[in-house]
Parts: sequence; structure tokens; C-alpha cells
Amino acid sequence: MFEDKNTSLTPLTDLGEFGLIKTLTQQFKVNQSSTRLGIGDDAAVLQFGSDARTVISTDMLVEGIHFDLGFMPMKHLGYKSVMVNVSDICAMNAIPTQITVSIACSNRFSLEALKELYEGIDIACSALGIDLIGGDTTSSLSGLVISITAIGSLDKDSAPVTRQGAKPTDLICVTGDLGAAYAGLQILLREQAIFKENPEAPNPDLTPYEYAIGKQLRPEARVDIINQLAAQGVIPTSMIDISDGLSSELEHIHQQSKVGYKIFEHKLPIDPVTISISNELNTNATVMALNGGEDYQLLFTIPLDQHELVKNINGVSIIGHIVAEIDTKVMITSQETEIPIKRDGWQVFTKDE
Ligand code: ADP
Ligand code: MG
Repeated sequence: MFEDKNTSLTPLTDLGEFGLIKTLTQQFKVNQSSTRLGIGDDAAVLQFGSDARTVISTDMLVEGIHFDLGFMPMKHLGYKSVMVNVSDICAMNAIPTQITVSIACSNRFSLEALKELYEGIDIACSALGIDLIGGDTTSSLSGLVISITAIGSLDKDSAPVTRQGAKPTDLICVTGDLGAAYAGLQILLREQAIFKENPEAPNPDLTPYEYAIGKQLRPEARVDIINQLAAQGVIPTSMIDISDGLSSELEHIHQQSKVGYKIFEHKLPIDPVTISISNELNTNATVMALNGGEDYQLLFTIPLDQHELVKNINGVSIIGHIVAEIDTKVMITSQETEIPIKRDGWQVFTKDE
């Protein structure tokens, strides 16, 4: 059963992250009636008899891949690790309740450093009113790995919202603004490179970039939006959190809802700080908003007739609508031209890795 067939081996770059997950998991069948939703969305949905449902999601953060301790303080890292996991719970329309935290670290880390990490975890748990209920601790040969499982609840009156329910004419909404976390990361990387080149250089004044750097180091899971949606009686038809970039998340909605979409460049919410950073770096703020990633905002669709209700929710922008033609995946630019959107978000297994 476990013998090595010694056939030619397939590099992971041939599949990409989503292809790999699909290949590894496709033979798994659901055996338990309590498994209401398994692999394939932001979180799984479980129901054990009662009316309430449990939502559960796991994410791993690896040093050198997801964070750089050169500019990411341990306390912020702890805070961010919790928020990015809880964001997947929000993306199901659920309220977060508990987390488990597992770490693997080498003897390069001191007790004081790990205490800082846990202080950040504690601040996030207190801010969200959730409980740390367990985890695992082990050693690693070099880097730090943090794996968090987030649990949430959906009461009997709320429906889980998946990536599958978007319908033609639905409005496409996003929370907050996009691209700032990526813009902040670009500034941190630039300053790190300058420091490496010349450690004696005076400390840079990062005040003009504070907003973007804050978004990179301290993202917030949008539990507030889930509460506001409930208060307005709005149940989105589909929802996903923006971890890999708007274009990548739109692609998931397209594939899983089997619909196309039309978004408008001038409707994309982009903060003035993101625009000025994009100008300074000679890039384009729209590209940052589409492909940047790590915004941890929510992308969701609502029926057209709920437009007025969503207008009552703070911090939601309507950026376009869903169309029936499945292959129409376009952005109308500020110059009124139509350009195709390619999924170009953050990719895990790239050829040059
Ligand atoms: P997100 O970006 O929202 O965290 P992912 O793209 O990581 O979601 O995962 C997509 C789906 O695949 C989720 O349902 C997740 O639980 C599942 N998944 C990811 N990796 C694995 C794995 N190694 N084994 C089983 N399921 C996985
Ligand atoms: Mg997600």
C-alpha cells in the first residue's frame, strides 16, 4: 500500500496551491452527518444535533514566508496571527468564539520573545472577546511556525455564507479599503533594504506611511461587519475574506458560484496613503488593490434589493455586480475601457521559489 512506485515525480509548481489542495483531498468523502460543509470554503461548518452550528478554520504562518521578524515585532505577529485566522470565521458570517495556538520554534528564540508573541495573542483575544483553549508546542530546526485554529458559532437564525451563492445582478461589496497592507509592506521592505545597505543611516521618518504600515502589521478581522449585517437583516449570497488579493478572491466566487462579474475601477476603495505610496514607488494603486493581498477585508455579494440596507453599514463599498456570462470577468477602468481581470493574487508555489 505504501510502496514507492518510483515513477517520475511531479513538481509542486505544476499544480499551484489550489491544485495541490484539490489533488490531495479529492478522494475524501464526508462520513459524518454533522459535517455540513467540509473542504473548499473559508471554514468548515459542523452541526451536532442542536440548532446552533460550529464553524472551524485553520491557518499556518511560517517565518520567511508569511512574516519577516526583521520588521515584524513579536507582539504584532501574535495579534496578526489571531486576526487572520478569525477573518476566515467572519467570512462564513459567523462570530468567533475560541482559538487554539500551536507553535514550533528553535532555540534561537528566547522566553521573552515568545512572551511578547503571547501578549499580542492575548490583546487580540481580549479585543475579540474570544478564548485561547489549547494548542501544541514543539521545536523546529530554524524558523518560527504558528498554526492557529479558529472556532466560531452561527446561531439558529444566521445562515452560513459560502463562496457559492452569488447570482446574476447581485451587488459586489467590499469592506474598508484595499491595497494598504501591501503598500505598507513595500515601504517596510524598502527601509529594510536601505538599512542593510547602510546600518549607520539615520532612522527614517515613517510617519507619512503610518496608516499603511499599521494595516500590514495590525490587520483587523471584520467582526464588526458581521454584527452590522445581522443588525440590518442582510444575509450575503456569497462571502470570502480578502487574504490573497481582490482578484484572487473574485476568482473563487466566479469558480464556486459559476458566475461572471463586472467591477468599476473608480469604485475601488483605496486610501490616499496607498495612492501616494504607489506614486512614490512608481506603481499603480489599482494594481495594489487588486493583487496586493493581506487586507483581511470581506468581499461579499448581496441581492440588488438589499442595496438600501447595506448603505446603512459603515465602511462598505459597492464595487460592481455579478453577471450571468461566466466568462465575463472584467473591470471598467476610470477611462471607461473594459479590461479582463486575471487571477493574480499572492501565489504560494511559484516557479522561482
Ligand atoms: P483560506 O485562504 O481561506 O485560508 P485555503 O485556500 O487555505 O483557504 O484553503 C481552501 C480550503 O482547502 C479550505 O477548506 C481548507 O480547509 C482546505 N485545505 C487547505 N489545505 C488543506 C490540507 N493540507 N488538507 C486538507 N484540507 C486543506
Ligand atoms: Mg479565507
